Amino acid sequence: METQRGQVVPRWRSPCSAHSGSAERQSLHPALMGALRWLFWAGLGYLSCCSAPQAQAQFPRACMTVDALHLKRCCPPLGRDPDNVCGSLQGRGQCQGVQADTQPWSGPYTLRNVDDRERWPLKFFNQSCRCAGPGRPFTGIDFSHQGPAFVTWHRYHLLLLERDLQRLIGNDSFALPYWNFAKGRNECDICTDQLFGASRPDDPELISLNSRFSRWQIVCKSLDDYNRLVTLCNGSDEGPLRRRPPGTSSEQLPTMEDVRRCLSLQEFDSPPFFRNSSFSFRNALEGFDKLGGALNSPMLSLHNLAHSFLNGTNVLPHSAANDPIFVVLHSFTDAIFDEWMKRFNPSDNAWPEELAPIGHNRLYNMVPFFPPVTNNELFQTAEQLGYTYAIDLPGSLEETQAWAAMVGSTIGGSLIALAMLVLLLILFQHQRQRRGFEPLMNVSFSAKKYMEEA
Ligand code: ZN
Repeated sequence: METQRGQVVPRWRSPCSAHSGSAERQSLHPALMGALRWLFWAGLGYLSCCSAPQAQAQFPRACMTVDALHLKRCCPPLGRDPDNVCGSLQGRGQCQGVQADTQPWSGPYTLRNVDDRERWPLKFFNQSCRCAGPGRPFTGIDFSHQGPAFVTWHRYHLLLLERDLQRLIGNDSFALPYWNFAKGRNECDICTDQLFGASRPDDPELISLNSRFSRWQIVCKSLDDYNRLVTLCNGSDEGPLRRRPPGTSSEQLPTMEDVRRCLSLQEFDSPPFFRNSSFSFRNALEGFDKLGGALNSPMLSLHNLAHSFLNGTNVLPHSAANDPIFVVLHSFTDAIFDEWMKRFNPSDNAWPEELAPIGHNRLYNMVPFFPPVTNNELFQTAEQLGYTYAIDLPGSLEETQAWAAMVGSTIGGSLIALAMLVLLLILFQHQRQRRGFEPLMNVSFSAKKYMEEA
């Protein structure tokens, strides 16, 4: 596995973990073979996590004690010294009161004090480590889609996965690959047995037996059952990975022109900060707003279109992450987000402080990550977070237009200058020719110098 290091500022740290290296994310093919091997194992590791006291994205096992739950305090010591709370003796973190967003939210979830994810994670803990339980999930809300947090939630999810992979292989410069899906194709070019698995000839929705993913099982698909039984997904196998059989889609994957249009939107997001927001970069990238399409057209674009194209396991938000393609699809989506961040350098205010749907306000702690981390903390360039993309995305429409205008004005300016020069030459020539004739009015200049008069 070879990764190219970018010129990065290693500012991002996994909460309370050791130094995180910097890494450059590359397009799929150069980075792929090793990555896939590790993805496979990471998938297993990901599902059986929570073993380390400093695990993120789940409550650490060390906090799952009656005492800790009673005290609502999740500040386990690091190592054997009970005084080393949150690794404070090594300066890795401190036990602090949890700050949760108090601003009102909007959107379809209008209940209060019903869902455990409200004001995350205060239903469970109000003290946790600060570094750098089952409940009833309400199905009508989405903390990671259809709102501004779409970009930051997936970004943080990938960072945690990337960090786990780095630890697993003992290589801090490992970086996730990305899949450039914006080639306007009508087939999945990474669905080969060498990469993410071709289709199985005798049952084309399944993965080919020659692929390492042929026996890949999915988990946590049956959301309705969990709700009916008031239980949580327990991670048991729920059947094989499924994708759309090749050659059966009338859809086409997005194009670079779609990326260019999306990147031309200067506004990060717009009210109501939901799937019906217009002129919103986030909504265009997420893929609910088809730019240049008919108004209110139900067409999907970019990220949504890529999921929809792959179909099967990929088509529902709660099951899509079962397909390893999820990682590389979202890595590319994140690269577009990063390009936008670099291009527009938005202020914090670009993100709504209130009245976004639940989970999407700027200072909301992203669900279910733990220790808590706000959307705002991920609203910076990838470089500031410690990684970069080896990618060259097309200039935005405005940039292209500005460039065209600049070139146009330069050429125009040159042409005008040239025309003036030619005109002057002609006049000069004309003047010289006229010397042979009696001028209509002969102007003679005094040869006297002003100095002489003074
Ligand atoms: Zn997605």
